[in-house]
Parts: sequence; structure tokens; C-alpha cells
Amino acid sequence: MPDTRDEHQDIRDAVRDLCRQFPDAYFRKIDEQRGYPEAFVAALIGAGWLAAMIPEEYGGSGLGLTAASVIMEEINRSGGNAAAVHGQMYNMGTLLRSGSPAQKAKYLPDIAAGKLRIQSMAVTEPGAGTDTTRIKTSAVRKDGRYVVNGQKVWISRVQHSDLMVLLARTTPLAEVQKKSEGMSIFIVDLRQAIGKGLRVQPIANMVNHETNELFFDNLEIPEENLIGEEGKGFKYILEGLNAERALIAAECIGDGYWFVDRASRYAKDRVVFDRPIGQNQGVQFPIADAFIEVEAANLMRFKACALFDAQLPCGAEANMAKYLAAKASWEAANVCLQTHGGFGFASEYDVERKFRETRLYQVAPISTNLIFSYVAEHLLGLPRSF
Ligand SMILES: Cc1cc2nc3c(=O)[nH]c(=O)nc-3n(C[C@H](O)[C@H](O)[C@H](O)COP(=O)(O)OP(=O)(O)OC[C@H]3O[C@@H](n4cnc5c(N)ncnc54)[C@H](O)[C@@H]3O)c2cc1C
Repeated sequence: MPDTRDEHQDIRDAVRDLCRQFPDAYFRKIDEQRGYPEAFVAALIGAGWLAAMIPEEYGGSGLGLTAASVIMEEINRSGGNAAAVHGQMYNMGTLLRSGSPAQKAKYLPDIAAGKLRIQSMAVTEPGAGTDTTRIKTSAVRKDGRYVVNGQKVWISRVQHSDLMVLLARTTPLAEVQKKSEGMSIFIVDLRQAIGKGLRVQPIANMVNHETNELFFDNLEIPEENLIGEEGKGFKYILEGLNAERALIAAECIGDGYWFVDRASRYAKDRVVFDRPIGQNQGVQFPIADAFIEVEAANLMRFKACALFDAQLPCGAEANMAKYLAAKASWEAANVCLQTHGGFGFASEYDVERKFRETRLYQVAPISTNLIFSYVAEHLLGLPRSF
């Protein structure tokens, strides 16, 4: 596969070097054990990669979203899975944009130094699903504290994070004028919360994506852990989603290149009917098709990142990049599996693992239909459907 060099080549080379220490067998074993890639994450933190977007004044590298997305891309392109760490890249953005000077001074230097992890964000609830404004988890102010009750679902990396960004209702839905009002975000110190008002129940799932149900039973959060203004939390969360979408798009691009690369390699090596299977156009065309789709999606990913870095509106591009990249990586996954025939199902080729991993991104963190709905309504002016 052509390895085009770009202006981020130094980052690419450095992340590739680090990832080489964690070959396929490492991630395969972690997947089999449903474990967490501790050593890999420690290496990334140690090299400062997860502090990429934290401004230099707080000890980070002060890089933009484009550079951060290259880091995520390279992890997935190497055969790993950035899902173990991507929360750290965008969750700190919520603090950076909406946190008070005191909160930034308290948390950001330690996050940049790798002493604190902010890997988790708790938004989704079983009863609300994609309709976030229907969340029922409540935070009630009482004697200098907020008391939280309710339930969340699919909340990732809770066991490997110190801090979690929580969205909860501070004013009941029935009492607000606009349904997007009355929600607030908080920093939850998981080290203090778990077992003292917060119960964490892992969810067995198709990918090795550490994700959980959370049960809040009178969890007390200090008042000073409210981020920004009370009642504006939904807006703050939305502001962070563009970065999340673009980073996930980059991970899908990394996956897509990995699938195309593995499919091409196998198609050249595997001989059936006295010739490499890749000599058959029925085998080579789908791989070429997958490559073209990944390349095209990559353009939208870079467009979204460039707009974000220029502080220009990028909601449409971030959503479209996520849609195109998730689709391209999934199609490439299918082609790669098909090219490998029966061996695509064998764990030792890693195709089935990456196949499962990349499938997630058509559902989370936002499902494909919701992107269509965004584009239809906000770009094409079609009537709201919900
Ligand atoms: C592995 C994993 C990790 C996750 N990690 C996190 C996390 O860390 N934090 C967090 O807060 N959440 C997390 N999520 C939750 C994820 O963001 C949601 O699963 C996702 O947003 C979809 O919500 P839902 O599952 O409730 O689907 P639902 O809202 O129940 O939707 C089900 C299906 O119906 C479609 N649908 C619903 N309404 C409409 C409509 N009006 N028009 C058209 N189609 C519609 C959806 O597109 C979807 O395909 C995670 C999920 C998974 C699987």
C-alpha cells in the first residue's frame, strides 16, 4: 500500500515506533483475556501522547486536533485499538473549554503528567438512549454538595480512569422551557465515588471494550465539581462531540488502512489454483474499492480537523467524517475477512478481532441514523424528525 508522507510524519514515525513494541500478539492476548492494555497505555502516557491536546501552560504539548487524530490513527493502523485511551483526548477538552481556572489548575497539570486519567464520560442512559434530553439521572444541590441518583449504561473505561465527566439533570424535564436546558456536567472523582454511592457493573460485550452500567445511589459530589454553569451541561457536552467524532473517524481510517494492507498482503501470498488469489480480479477489485473509500473518507477527516483547529464551525464535517470513515473501515473489514477465506475467522490473523472492533463505530458514539438526521435537518433544511 502506498505510504504517503505528510506534515505529521514525525508524529507518525514516533507513534509507530512505540506501537511496534506492542505487536498483534499483545493485543490478541488482551482481547482473549478481556483485559486492559495497561502496559501499552502506560507507554503512551509516558511518551506524552495522551497529553497532546493539553495546552503547554498546563504541561501538555498544545497540539491541535489534526495531530491528535494522527496519533489515534496510527494506533489503529498498527493493529492496536485506541478505544482504550481515546476518552483522554477529548474528555479533557470539556474541562479546558468549560472548566473554571481553579478546576483547570487542579486537574490539567496532573492529567498532562500522567498522574490522573480522565478516560470516562457518562451520558447514555437505558431509558433515554439517543434521546439524551430524556435522561433521568438527577443531581440535587444540598448543603454545598450535589446528591446524584439514577443509572447510566455503556460507560467505558471506568475501571481505568480516576475522573469521569457526568451529565445529570439539575432541573427536571417538566420544569424547563427547552428540553436541552436543565442538565449539568460534573467531575466525578471515581476513586472516591466507587463503593460510596456509585456501583459499577461491567457489561459483557462483543468487543474488548471495557464498558459498564453505573448505579448512583445518593452519590455526593462537592459543589465545586460542577463544570461551568448549572443547567448548561448539554451545550458543553455538544461542544466536545465534534472533536470526539473526528478522532473516532481517524481511528476508523487507521483500521481501514490496516484491513487493506492485510488483505493485499494475503492476496499476494495465498496461492490457490496455482496462482496468488490476488491475481483474480474478483479478489483484487474489492480491495482496490475498499482502499479508494478509505482514501476518500480520509479527506473529510482532515477537513473536519482543519476546521476545528482553525476554530471554525465543523459540526457537519465532523459528523460526515465519522460516517464516511466508519463505513469505509467496515467495508474494508468485510473485504479483508473475505480475502482471508476461512483463515479470516482464525484469531491468530487478527482480522476477526479488528472486524469486531471497527463495527462498533456505526453505533457508538453516535449511530449512523443520527448522523443522517443531523445532515438532513441542519445542512439540507429538511423538517425535524424528532
Ligand atoms: C461499546 C460501547 C461503548 C460505549 N461507551 C459509551 C461511553 O463511554 N459513554 C456514553 O455515554 N455512552 C457510551 N456508549 C453508548 C452509545 O453512545 C450508544 O449506544 C449510542 O449512542 C446509541 O444509543 P442506544 O444504544 O441507546 O441506541 P437507541 O437510542 O436505543 O437506538 C437504537 C437504534 O435505533 C436508531 N434510532 C433511534 N432513534 C431514531 C430516530 N429517531 N430515527 C432513526 N433511527 C433512530 C439508532 O440509530 C440505533 O441504530 C457506548 C456504547 C457501546 C456499544
